[in-house]
Amino acid sequence: WTAQARPLGRDEAGSHLALLVLRDETDVRRTERTRADFLANASHELRTPLASLSGFIETLRGHAKEDPGARDRFLAIMQAQAERMSRLIDDLMSLSRIELNEHIAPAGRVDLAMAAQDVIDALAPQARDKQVAFDAILPPRGAAVVEGDRDQIVQVIQNLVDNAIKYTPKDGTVRVEIFPGLTPATAVAARDPAAARLALLTPDHSAVEEFYAGLRVSDRGPGIAREHLPRLTERFYRVEGQKSGERQGTGLGLAIVKHIVNRHRGGLHVESVRGEGATFGIYLPMAKSLPDKDFVASEEP
Ligand code: ADP
Repeated sequence: WTAQARPLGRDEAGSHLALLVLRDETDVRRTERTRADFLANASHELRTPLASLSGFIETLRGHAKEDPGARDRFLAIMQAQAERMSRLIDDLMSLSRIELNEHIAPAGRVDLAMAAQDVIDALAPQARDKQVAFDAILPPRGAAVVEGDRDQIVQVIQNLVDNAIKYTPKDGTVRVEIFPGLTPATAVAARDPAAARLALLTPDHSAVEEFYAGLRVSDRGPGIAREHLPRLTERFYRVEGQKSGERQGTGLGLAIVKHIVNRHRGGLHVESVRGEGATFGIYLPMAKSLPDKDFVASEEP
């Protein structure tokens, strides 16, 4: 709370009058604190690979100069650190771009099946490197069209599939499924009673008559313990001691997913059985059907 007194002169009896203004600053302070925490975290995350790079440069200029084996090893580590910094900066830029237009409803129509197929094609080399196979169960074109921004929806699917590949053991399978025509209740319906399940984001503006298309990405990796589920979409939150292969994540992927899904008036949920894998699901409002293309007059002869 802040208090401010404003003098209002005197009344007829000669007493001083004042107006005391009390203002609840909780939200303002909380936003300021979040912003400061975020900047501190971002700086720390960028400083870590930078410190490592400086250290290796020092070593290379010193005693590693004469040792070609060590030099190659150090250069490979330095390259990985530089790539990590670059991923961090890309993700930070994405987050700030998404925050800028978060309150503007996205315009456009996106075919979820086509977007998912594009992501699968783009991540195929990464999956092949780990000998991870895709099991994609996609509806025909036109069956799951949602309202949205294509680039952002592709980014959501990409972040989820990328995580699934990252945490899937070698020779494993990542499953991508799409379900058109859900209501919010069926979108989060129970599948596995043993799973720890959490809706990370549910649309508070959902209309009963509205239909959603759902997309689910499942892996058979280590899964996520129940206590971590509520915090997964926090910026820079990572589960300690989890092996994700050689490519360390930024901890921003699911924060980006949450912001984009929120902007699209959609929902996000996760369910996991420890040791048996994780399933991330999103659902987005389906686009209202347009008149059949054949009946729309074309502009050019
Ligand atoms: P990161 O870039 O570190 O993957 P994310 O925001 O995408 O960041 O994910 C946050 C954390 O959630 C990860 O560091 C990981 O601990 C956990 N996580 C995300 N996806 C999975 C998954 N499919 N299986 C197991 N853990 C996961």
